[in-house]
Amino acid sequence: MRILLSNDDGYFAPGLQALADALAQLGEVVVVAPERDRSGASNSLTLDRPLTVRRSHLGYHYVNGTPTDCVHLAVTGLLDHLPDIVVSGINHGANMGDDTIYSGTVAAATEGFLLGIPSIAVSLAGRRDGNFSAAGRVAAQLVQRCIESRPAGPFLLNVNVPDMPFEQIGGTEITRLGKRHKAEGVVRTTNPRGDTVYWVGAAGDAAEAGPGTDFHAVAQGRVSVTPLQMDLTHFEQLDLVRAWLGA
Ligand code: MN
Repeated sequence: MRILLSNDDGYFAPGLQALADALAQLGEVVVVAPERDRSGASNSLTLDRPLTVRRSHLGYHYVNGTPTDCVHLAVTGLLDHLPDIVVSGINHGANMGDDTIYSGTVAAATEGFLLGIPSIAVSLAGRRDGNFSAAGRVAAQLVQRCIESRPAGPFLLNVNVPDMPFEQIGGTEITRLGKRHKAEGVVRTTNPRGDTVYWVGAAGDAAEAGPGTDFHAVAQGRVSVTPLQMDLTHFEQLDLVRAWLGA
């Protein structure tokens, strides 16, 4: 079993190391991760400059690019063998609802999926110093399950783990994405040279977070597993737009 790991928090992130440690028992783990925090990078590729790959003291490959660059580069050129599975994370913070659009963690897994490889994104719904080892155990169990009974086609799973000791986690729930309120507005401030600058505001709170959603499962202390797809076509509007445009 060949496992490719990536993340968006950077190759030095504790969540990545917890994931690498937890998955080591399942097979050969190769890490290809960004050289710095690229949270919020979404599915971007670097096209305006070359990418370099270096090795850390732990043997992790790190790249001066995005999470998507890392998986793309690993699968299409860097590795001698295709990975059997791509796992991204463990992200420092939840990736639920609309977060999945912006997340570099989800994007790294998406790149694996789009290249035809089963892929899983794992996020810890907690803080930087949270229960990463518990989330690592959850990820290892899931990867093991995926290995044992592999579905016919590639899959893309978005996993959020509540931030608590492993023994307290109340099982796993298969969920749909919830939705957040609109993000807070940008924060306007002044830099030390007197220029006006802006910070992108925090994500909004959960708006659609009822039973069946990722937000709800995690709030109840359960692991949320959401199967994702990448076809953005709005099928229900095909006829409407056809009639509207007379096409
Ligand atoms: Mn991140």
